[in-house]
Amino acid sequence: MTKPKSKKTAPARGAKPAPSLYSAQDVREIFRRFSVQRPEPRGELAHVNPYTLVVAVALSAQATDVGVNKATRELFKIADTPEKMLALGEEKLCDHIRTIGLWRNKARNVIALSRKLVEDFGGEVPRSREELMTLPGVGRKTANVVLQMAFGIPAIAVDTHIFRIANRIGLAPGRTPDEVEEHLMKVIPQEYLIHAHHWLILHGRYCCKARKPECERCVIADLCKAPDKTCDVPAALVELPPQVIG
Ligand code: SF4
Repeated sequence: MTKPKSKKTAPARGAKPAPSLYSAQDVREIFRRFSVQRPEPRGELAHVNPYTLVVAVALSAQATDVGVNKATRELFKIADTPEKMLALGEEKLCDHIRTIGLWRNKARNVIALSRKLVEDFGGEVPRSREELMTLPGVGRKTANVVLQMAFGIPAIAVDTHIFRIANRIGLAPGRTPDEVEEHLMKVIPQEYLIHAHHWLILHGRYCCKARKPECERCVIADLCKAPDKTCDVPAALVELPPQVIG
């Protein structure tokens, strides 16, 4: 998962984050439309259980989901538990993930977090953010992805797409990912919280793109308050074809 890189769309340092530009009714309508487009949104990181999700997310820092999936396809066939990962060992793990940036550090972290899972958690992935964050290489963002995707606990991991959209359209302005996360958790209606994370990421990845948002293809173009939007007419609200995981 890509980290937020630029803060140029965020409020200036020192300033209090601005309030959301949207009424509660507008926010509900935005997420209603996202839910029609993608009734069952899925993350794009391949995994077979909570443990392999933790590993995949740990490997995905500053890498694409497609690149991580290529590397883990064979790895997870032989190491889908912390015990099997420890048996595989750091050297052989490195052979599998060499195509991913920062692979040496990531391999070290995966072995260390596997060891901690075995020693302190009976080989099971814990279900609380605090416990997840005790694992080597697991920060708040990774913990939120795991809570949401593995255990269905509403959480928003603010990546580069979510950070950009929240600030660009004024949905939940914030200077840091933590501020944006806190703001989004407040403004998104409860019934949409469980999928909000994926809807925003997919909207950012495929429509509200960083350099050139594709406003003509956007289902919220009429509601959007981004100063640089290029279209006021919303795209047809239809269910999109399922994602193909690379
Ligand atoms: S209208 Fe354009 S700027 Fe607004 S959310 Fe849609 S793609 Fe992004």
